[in-house]
Amino acid sequence: MRVAVLSDIHANLRALEAILAQAGAVDALWHLGDVVGYGPDPDAVVARLDALGAVGVRGNHDLAATGDEVIRDFNADARAAMEWTRRTIAPATLAWLAALPERRTVDGFSLVHGSPRDPTWEYILTEEVAAANIALLSTQLGFFGHTHLPIAYLQAAGSPGASGMATLEPGPGSSLVLDDRRGLLNPGSVGQPRDGDPRASAVILDLAARTVTWLRAEYDIAATQRAMQAARLPARGISRLSAGF
Ligand code: ZN
Repeated sequence: MRVAVLSDIHANLRALEAILAQAGAVDALWHLGDVVGYGPDPDAVVARLDALGAVGVRGNHDLAATGDEVIRDFNADARAAMEWTRRTIAPATLAWLAALPERRTVDGFSLVHGSPRDPTWEYILTEEVAAANIALLSTQLGFFGHTHLPIAYLQAAGSPGASGMATLEPGPGSSLVLDDRRGLLNPGSVGQPRDGDPRASAVILDLAARTVTWLRAEYDIAATQRAMQAARLPARGISRLSAGF
C-alpha cells in the first residue's frame, strides 16, 4: 500500500496537482494541515482533497479559516491572506475545514500539524523538541508539518533524549527504511516550501516495504503568483514562492 503524505498545501492548486502527478498511483492520501492560507485556490484544493478521500488533520491556518480568533496571532501578511481566505471560501470548504481533527492515527501512524505535544501550534525545529515529542507519541512513528522543512528525526532504541537522536535532511528521492526506531517525519510543504527549493515537496510511504521516500515536483510557480496578484494577496507571500523560503 502506497500512501502520499502531504502537508502545508496552502491553497496552491498547481503545486498540489504537480505533486500528485509525481506521486503516481497511490492507495491513500494523508494530509497534515494548513490546507488553506497564503494561496489563491482554497475551494479548489479542498474539493480536490475531498474527491480523493484524503484524511488529515487541521493546521493553524485551517483553524483560523473557520473563524477562530487565533487569526490575531498571525503576522500581518498571514493575517491579510487569511482575511481574504475567510471572505472567499465557500460554505462547503468551511465545513470541510471545520471537521478536521487536531490529531489522528491512521494505519499505526500519528498525524499532527505541529507536534504531538501541541498539535496545532508547536514547531519541531530542534532535536531537543523532537525528542520530547517522540517520547509522547502513542505510535512508533508520526508525521508532522508546520515548519515547511523536509526532515526526519529518529530516536535510537533505549537512548532517550537528544543524545540518541539521528536527524536526516532528505534530498529529493531520498528513501528511509523504517526500522525499530521511533521517530517524527516531515514531508516538507506542497504549496509553500521554505527549505530554499521552491518545488512542491511530499513523501510516499510504502507500508509493505516499510519505506518513506521524499519527492519534489516542479510546477508553474508564475501562474500561482499571477493568481495571487489577481486576488491582491500580500506581496511577500507571492515573492517567497519562487525563492522557496
Ligand atoms: Zn503552514
